[in-house]
Amino acid sequence: MREGVIIARGYTNTPGCDHAEAMALRQVHGDLRDASAFVTLEPCSFHGRTPSCAKALVQRRIGRVFVGILDPHPRNQGAGIDILRAAGIPVLTGILEDEVRHDLAPYLFGKNTRDATTE
Ligand SMILES: [Zn+2]
Repeated sequence: MREGVIIARGYTNTPGCDHAEAMALRQVHGDLRDASAFVTLEPCSFHGRTPSCAKALVQRRIGRVFVGILDPHPRNQGAGIDILRAAGIPVLTGILEDEVRHDLAPYLFGKNTRDATTE
């Protein structure tokens, strides 16, 4: 979002395909220091099947990131936030936390829906 206008949207695709952040970043070009990212789930910190979204946001110099909930995945759990903050990007967590937790529960906490290789 830039100056109150949504400039890109994304959602996480099937495992191995783009995460929401990568999908949104492809829709805009150039430096994003005057834009904010609103994400339901903490951006991923590690390169699994797809590149790290936290690092991608840093590379594009996103101005600010608003996060719904931290990723309970053992390989993330705040590491994505740390990458952003280490790069000097302000991060605010807990945005609409209850709603996000409710919406993502089947994905995050469902049985056999996620393992260390699905990111
Ligand atoms: Zn990701």
